[in-house]
Amino acid sequence: MLARANAKLTKSTMIKDINGRRPLSRRDFVKMMSAAGLGSMLGIPAARAMSSSVKAKIVVIGGGAAGISTAARLLRWLETPDVTIIDPSDIHYYQPGFTLIASGVYSPDEVYKPQSSCMPSGAKWIKDSATFVDAKKQYVDTLKNGKIPYDFLVLAPGLKLNWAMLEGANCDAPGEGDAHCIYTHKGAIKMWEGMQKFVDKGGRGIFADTYTKHKCGGAPKKVCLLTEHLSRMRKTRDKLKLDFYTASPELYDVPFFTPRLLEIYKERGVNLNLKSRITAIDTSAKKVRMEHEANGVKTTTVEDYDFLHYLPPMTAPDFVKNSGLSIEGGSHAIEGWAATDKNTLVHLKYPNIVCLGDVAGIPTSKTSAAIRKQSPIAAANLICLMEGKEPSEIYDGYAACPIVTDYGHVLMCEFDYDKKPKISFPLSLLDMSKEQWVAWLLKVYALKPMYFYGMLKGYV
Ligand SMILES: Cc1cc2nc3c(=O)[nH]c(=O)nc-3n(C[C@H](O)[C@H](O)[C@H](O)COP(=O)(O)OP(=O)(O)OC[C@H]3O[C@@H](n4cnc5c(N)ncnc54)[C@H](O)[C@@H]3O)c2cc1C
Repeated sequence: MLARANAKLTKSTMIKDINGRRPLSRRDFVKMMSAAGLGSMLGIPAARAMSSSVKAKIVVIGGGAAGISTAARLLRWLETPDVTIIDPSDIHYYQPGFTLIASGVYSPDEVYKPQSSCMPSGAKWIKDSATFVDAKKQYVDTLKNGKIPYDFLVLAPGLKLNWAMLEGANCDAPGEGDAHCIYTHKGAIKMWEGMQKFVDKGGRGIFADTYTKHKCGGAPKKVCLLTEHLSRMRKTRDKLKLDFYTASPELYDVPFFTPRLLEIYKERGVNLNLKSRITAIDTSAKKVRMEHEANGVKTTTVEDYDFLHYLPPMTAPDFVKNSGLSIEGGSHAIEGWAATDKNTLVHLKYPNIVCLGDVAGIPTSKTSAAIRKQSPIAAANLICLMEGKEPSEIYDGYAACPIVTDYGHVLMCEFDYDKKPKISFPLSLLDMSKEQWVAWLLKVYALKPMYFYGMLKGYV
């Protein structure tokens, strides 16, 4: 696995403790983490377990991280559950693994399973796409299966990678003109080829995020830092010029972690450009048009690149907006995120709908780590509503973003709505304002099995 990135990596980062302690095998690591209370670190459910005899027809739109984990809990907590999941996909991807495919740590086939094997037993699966929700008449319209009525709805269709909103972006040709995006499985595979070619040949690398809210804000930073480290390991660093552009006014908005991240960018010689975003890509000429903002004034430049990593703008799926379920007004209105109470995850207009995951219009990061905490809360509050009670569980905005800073270290950013650090035990025993080796082990070895065998089953 890691050996594919660089044979040296295997020795230096995977099995040998950087502080010179005895080598640690994967088995040792698993044992160590169990002993240290891995269950706690990975998130004891935020909501209490429950059991209810209430009956109603529940429809879940979306069989991703959010939809499946919530359905699994509802199926366990309800004595006579009636849960239908609408999702068109054959494959279920563990998307956090895309970064590790893009950097040669995982092989491409390590991050997915057939969707049929992820569906919780007891749920009815309608393999179809929702096209409209009539929230007043309480039904979901679908592409092929007509109207599906519901009493209660879980809205969890994720988000739409909106390629059409960026001139020149092409999701069908990842890597074309050395322009890459790891936000699809194919794109992540291409990136690993492209990253190696760039590191070997050298030139100017541009890494950019986007101006809309986007999932895993850390991913563009991770691939930038991993490219830099790969070039050092392959002794070609001096052939590379690296520029990171962010549309945000700061590199990271959680003050506990920002100083170290800024320091890392400086130490590695990655130029940082704030309030700058790509508005067009020309893959044949290998140029990007950038828009910069300073003191309220917008300027445009055209930049040459030899290697590009970019993000398309991201929005809620179209049907969410077309069904009148989106936030109205505000700077992000055009993105169409579902109007969601940030504490209870109940829809702001329709109290028989809960919204969670990437589609939810709540002020936290769009990550599966956040969903791990949202899912028990959404399920518990849905049951309260079914019982005719007020929703009682409160989500504090917990999200985590493991920023991989090199092959061997991760700055594990865990925080809440107030952008205060919310470090899980036993990581809280370490200085988590700095990148840590143990967090790398967690990211590479523990989080994926925890996702498939814990989170999707509704256990963690
Ligand atoms: C490159 C990358 C790196 C990431 N890194 C991390 C990380 O390190 N840590 C982390 O915690 N998170 C990370 N994430 C984010 C994480 O993967 C997402 O936040 C999470 O998967 C969102 O879950 P979701 O259920 O909301 O959406 P998804 O998991 O995307 O699932 C949405 C589901 O809805 C279905 N759907 C869509 N439209 C419809 C429709 N009309 N009708 C019915 N079904 C529909 C889809 O088929 C899909 O199955 C990363 C993501 C990417 C892309």
